[in-house]
Amino acid sequence: MDQYQTRNDVPEKYRWNLGLIYQDQAAWDAGFSKLENITKQVEGFKGKLAQSTQSLQQAFEVQTELELLIEKLYTFAHHLSDQDTRDATNLGQVDRIASKATEIGARLSWMDPELLETPTDQLKIFQNDPLLKNYSRRIENLIRSKPHQRSAEVEEILSLVSEPLSSASKAFSLLENADMPMPTVKDGAGKDVLVNHATYITCLESDDRVLRKNAFEAYLGSFSQYKNTFAATLDGNVKNHVFYSRARNFKSAIESSLFNDTIPLSVYNGLIDTVHQHLPLLHRLMRLRKKILGVQDLNLYDLFVPMVKPADIDIPYEQATKMVLDGVKPLGETYVNALQKSFSERWIDVYYTTGKRSGAYSGGMYQSKPYILLNHKDNLGSAFTLAHELGHSLHSYFSNANQPHSKSSYPIFLAEVASTTNEMLLHFHLYDQAKTKEMKLYLLDHLFNQFRGTLYRQVQFAEFERDIHAMVEQGEPLTCQTLGAHYAKLNAHYYGKDVVQSEAISYEWARIPHFYYNFYVYKYSTSFAAAQYFARKIYDGDTTITEKYLQFLKSGSSRDPLDTLIEAGVDLRDSKPIEAAFKVFEQALDEFEKIIA
Ligand SMILES: [Zn+2]
Repeated sequence: MDQYQTRNDVPEKYRWNLGLIYQDQAAWDAGFSKLENITKQVEGFKGKLAQSTQSLQQAFEVQTELELLIEKLYTFAHHLSDQDTRDATNLGQVDRIASKATEIGARLSWMDPELLETPTDQLKIFQNDPLLKNYSRRIENLIRSKPHQRSAEVEEILSLVSEPLSSASKAFSLLENADMPMPTVKDGAGKDVLVNHATYITCLESDDRVLRKNAFEAYLGSFSQYKNTFAATLDGNVKNHVFYSRARNFKSAIESSLFNDTIPLSVYNGLIDTVHQHLPLLHRLMRLRKKILGVQDLNLYDLFVPMVKPADIDIPYEQATKMVLDGVKPLGETYVNALQKSFSERWIDVYYTTGKRSGAYSGGMYQSKPYILLNHKDNLGSAFTLAHELGHSLHSYFSNANQPHSKSSYPIFLAEVASTTNEMLLHFHLYDQAKTKEMKLYLLDHLFNQFRGTLYRQVQFAEFERDIHAMVEQGEPLTCQTLGAHYAKLNAHYYGKDVVQSEAISYEWARIPHFYYNFYVYKYSTSFAAAQYFARKIYDGDTTITEKYLQFLKSGSSRDPLDTLIEAGVDLRDSKPIEAAFKVFEQALDEFEKIIA
């Protein structure tokens, strides 16, 4: 059973308990009415923030109180609204807290600049003062950013130009999502199928090869019709990044972006190099795919269709929860007990009902349960989604329990480690339990897709992103010709000679929103690789690594992300962890080939 008419039809134990955040609307309103007063208290510190350790500590404490309240109000409003996105009252509540938070942010924007006027020596004293220990990271980051801070006058101009400079990215989004007409194509039976952003990948996953080909060509063809405009929006966006990096005294746009997470450029470049060295494994997968699909030529539109049909088994939610619990057992009792709370304390909103937000996510805030939104279907994919989101939520749970608020929220660079580790533990568990060849092959194919999508494809994107920024920095124009030629070249290099390249692929860059995110996608790949390392060791019963991993989950943002992973045993400055991940991939390929032989 995975279809309920209304929320009231869903048994209570499958609905998240938001009442633990606010009992009712009146309690939320009462919380909201406190915002103004606390904001004024923080404003009272203006001009005397860094006067003494005591004044700084008091200001930070009140600000934390304010941040917690905003988070709490926002979390409740947006989780409530996601239950039924059509509900205008709930949506209004989200708007109300979001715009109040923006207003408060602007009113308190003097804080960091005021602190930055303090001499570095004094800031270092603050950083090491026990009274300010909860805020040491915040002060440390401020000191680190000092060389990139400009005079008050320049800072004012930089903040004034930020809105006009975001026009290129806005134009991209509007062209792609609102203005561009979407094509209708014929499927293998001659029926019309609308191809849009939501259905494109579904079409590529279809068994119907005619539909795959038509969808691929027509969808990318639509982008080609606006190729000059898309090139201009991407060019504008890259120039935006380059402008800021120069204005803030960075050597390059990429270094400016990596600075936020304190990631050395060598980690980024090293990741790309290591993936290049392991392209032969991707080529091997392509040859395998060609053979299994039984096609004469493997085309770019043949890459998404599963090689193995989803094992035709029904996995009700209760069974999925049991699978996940069994899967994470190697993490030990503390972890399993915490995970069990997600069910007994009703963190999870399980089933789809009309109007509910699509997809899945892990949410919550510092003082709430780490809630999870799902749209569970009774299949294996949903069981993996459950494992994934619980990975995030348990990471939040342990970090929130062990860190002060200002050091609790882990950065994106670390986020996908915990989710992927759980998915991999589930994979190993199910694989060892699998009774049929079909099930084993299905699990391996699922894993192959993860490797192709997360390690190879995201790194291909990361490389393209690096290169187009360098082109702009060297004064080379970004046009639809230069972008298309470079994209097609990279694509051919990644997939190798066993995949037929096509003209249409030289417009794929135009549809990737991640190229507007400022060096973001590589974090998926490094997280994924680190998780491969952890999961294998944990599953094999390495208690030292398991203990370090649990420590990692508790560490939030208390250190630089790279150091956090080094402490846990994964040093991404070295190529070894990425190579170890490819070993997992290679073994999976060996297994698959052995089974079908
Ligand atoms: Zn995730």
